[in-house]
Amino acid sequence: MSQTAPGMSPAVGSRPERKPYGWLVFLALGGLVALSGPAVAAVSPFLDALLWSGLQGAATLAVLFGIRRYRLGRLRSWRLIGLGIVTAWLANTVGWSLGWIWLKSQTLLTVYQVGTLVGYALLLTALILMSARVGASRWTGLLDSGIITVGVAMPFWTFVIDPAIDLGVHSGSDLTYALITPFVDLIVMGMVARLLFDSGRPPWLLLLAASFAAIFVADGAYLLDQAAGSAQTSAVATIGWLAWSVLIGAAALHPSVARSAELRAVPTADRSRVTLFLALALISPLVSSLGRPFVDTESQPHDDMAIMAWTVVLAVLLVLRLNTVARLAETRAADLDRHADQLTLQTRQLSAALHTQEMLQRSLAHRAFHDPLTGLANRTLLGEALQQALSAPAVAGEPAPETPPALLLLDLDGFKDVNDTLGHPIGDDLLTQVAHRLRALCEPGLTLARLGGDEFALLLPATSAQVAVELAHTIVERLRAPYRLGEHEIYLTTSVGVLAETEISTPAEALRDADLALYAAKAAGKNQITLFTPELRSARLEHSRLIAGLRQALAREELAVRYQPVVELDSGRIVAVETLLRWQPGDSRPIPPDVFIPLAEESGLIVPIGTWVLERACADAARWHARHGLSVTVNISGRQLRDPGFAETVLAALERHRLPARALVLEITESMLLATTPAETERVIGVLQGLRAHGVRIALDDFGTGYSSLAYLRILPVDIVKIDRSFTTAPSAADHAQARAFTKAIVELSASLRLGTIVEGVETREQAVVLHQVGCTLAQGYLFSPPATARQIDNLLETTPWENVA
Ligand code: C2E
Ligand code: CA
Ligand code: CA
Repeated sequence: MSQTAPGMSPAVGSRPERKPYGWLVFLALGGLVALSGPAVAAVSPFLDALLWSGLQGAATLAVLFGIRRYRLGRLRSWRLIGLGIVTAWLANTVGWSLGWIWLKSQTLLTVYQVGTLVGYALLLTALILMSARVGASRWTGLLDSGIITVGVAMPFWTFVIDPAIDLGVHSGSDLTYALITPFVDLIVMGMVARLLFDSGRPPWLLLLAASFAAIFVADGAYLLDQAAGSAQTSAVATIGWLAWSVLIGAAALHPSVARSAELRAVPTADRSRVTLFLALALISPLVSSLGRPFVDTESQPHDDMAIMAWTVVLAVLLVLRLNTVARLAETRAADLDRHADQLTLQTRQLSAALHTQEMLQRSLAHRAFHDPLTGLANRTLLGEALQQALSAPAVAGEPAPETPPALLLLDLDGFKDVNDTLGHPIGDDLLTQVAHRLRALCEPGLTLARLGGDEFALLLPATSAQVAVELAHTIVERLRAPYRLGEHEIYLTTSVGVLAETEISTPAEALRDADLALYAAKAAGKNQITLFTPELRSARLEHSRLIAGLRQALAREELAVRYQPVVELDSGRIVAVETLLRWQPGDSRPIPPDVFIPLAEESGLIVPIGTWVLERACADAARWHARHGLSVTVNISGRQLRDPGFAETVLAALERHRLPARALVLEITESMLLATTPAETERVIGVLQGLRAHGVRIALDDFGTGYSSLAYLRILPVDIVKIDRSFTTAPSAADHAQARAFTKAIVELSASLRLGTIVEGVETREQAVVLHQVGCTLAQGYLFSPPATARQIDNLLETTPWENVA
């Protein structure tokens, strides 16, 4: 609301815009009074004095009013003008009108003269201050003033001063005072002209300039009057002096004066300055020399000299001024250079910034599509590559290629344990090495990706199943070589799911099918390669269905145990029974343990189920042990052994059913220890040792299969070795002989290690005889009994039917 427009003085801006014409009225009335000056002077010196001090008084009031009205008091120049005009008025009124005209006091006349000079000097100072504010520099402003002054002075000299001196010489009048003032006026005029030239000529400044011009004219006329020895002051001088004060008053009243604080150099086209200077430099000497004969009645040699001197001064000033221009040009050129340098610097910085941004963008894009650890493609990029591979023919408008792309999914077996036991940095190192080996196997055009964790993928464009599986074998082989990680040496196997020669429509579908193949590979015992078949999809479905059913099995009482007798070949007596789990879902046929036990392990359900088996076995065995000294063996899966509460569960079951620890045998397989890391194996061995300390015995199941290493027999806390039934039921005669030799060796080794042996899968009497001959003492198999119910075992114990079996 009260906002002031920029550049507008508050005094003016806050009022409604109304152009005051007071200055014009003052100028017109004052001008009329000034014009009447000579006439009034002729009537009476007293009236003349009254007019002088009256008009000057009015002008003084006008100036003071203007200063107040337009708030010029804050400007030093206007304060000086005000002071100057007040001084001049006081000098005039007190010194001249009162002191001289009325009182005829010589002292007061001097006061008048001094006062007038002081007033004039104050105005001059004000002008210098204004001039200093306008212009490129004080020096150039001064030079410009000088050039104008000298340029004007030359004809002034020729047409006014020189004739006046000549006249004065003749009339004998003293011109000293009269001669000085025009020169001062000249300098002032030069300054005012320069000021006008550089400032954009605001009206108030024009009026001020006019006031100085009036004085200049008046002083010039007065000089001529004096030179002519005239006692009367000429009308021109009188009007000029009176006009001086009127014009100053008008300048102070003019509305434009409100912006005198903003008096600044306006850029004037240097061409007009050059024109002015050129005019002064050429025309002044020319006019002075050519016009002199008309005004100068008596030419003297010093007159030519004077014009020459003026010309020289003008030339010197012009040269100096030229120098400032040259210097200005130099500094501007330097400025431009610096500017250009800055620009180059900025350009360089800008391009550096752009480069950085580009790098950043590239690295961000790389990050979005790559695995930060290995630098391989990530799942997103693989998805895109798959999409491209799947849709490539459609895009190119060509017929679909015969062979669709192949996808290999890799999973490092047991990587999680490396991570858990050796720490993540070593795990990361291992992954990096794996990535390195994989990359070395990849030809260009293949997409190798890490999908997260220890899962890798390889996309092969248009590849047959045979080639894909061959590559999978190469990969498994290459990844099997030991890894050196600090002081550790690690062996890894890999499971691979291969998807090839299969119609796929989306990347998600491809990944899911390859994943099914990978899952099948892992389920098949890891370190495997499985090619995807559509059956895997239904198998997977069945798999999920089974796990869901198993989850309910305990609560629905669908689980049961059977016991298979372990018979002493010498006596035909049952010395132990092996507990074997059965699952009969309510709505379907029985599910074989070979099918549901792995599912129970995978889902973790084996822990509660295993506890239940243990409880049942201990409950039944307590009775058999009490009556017949029987032991009971229970199969324990790796998952159960790694469960922290396992030992407690076992001891609690023994305690609850009052079964001595010696009557319990836990069957474990070596493969389940192999699947874990050395540290985990050590921990499990500790658990087994703890149980053995209580008297529980440990049997090593399925001995002779898988990774069987005799060395394990030394490090594992084992009491009994169960020789796998593949040794018992060798298909051909040659195999038979070899199997027999092996069995013999195992039995002898076990004996030397003070381990008991049980042979499994004995189906015929012949087998039993042969096994007995090679030293087997205990046997188990359909020959004696299939897994039986507890009630059936009770019956068998009463009858003891195998007295002369071997
Ligand atoms: P396993 O521990 O090797 O059990 C012996 C398997 O051989 C049993 O199969 C048994 O029925 C079978 N068998 C016994 N005598 C003969 C024979 O003369 N000829 C042939 N061909 N087979 C015979 P089953 O009951 O199907 O058990 C399969 C596997 O399931 C077991 O192999 C064992 O590893 C696992 N299992 C069974 N019950 C449990 C359990 O309660 N817990 C755990 N963790 N695993 C169990
Ligand atoms: Ca077993
Ligand atoms: Ca077995």
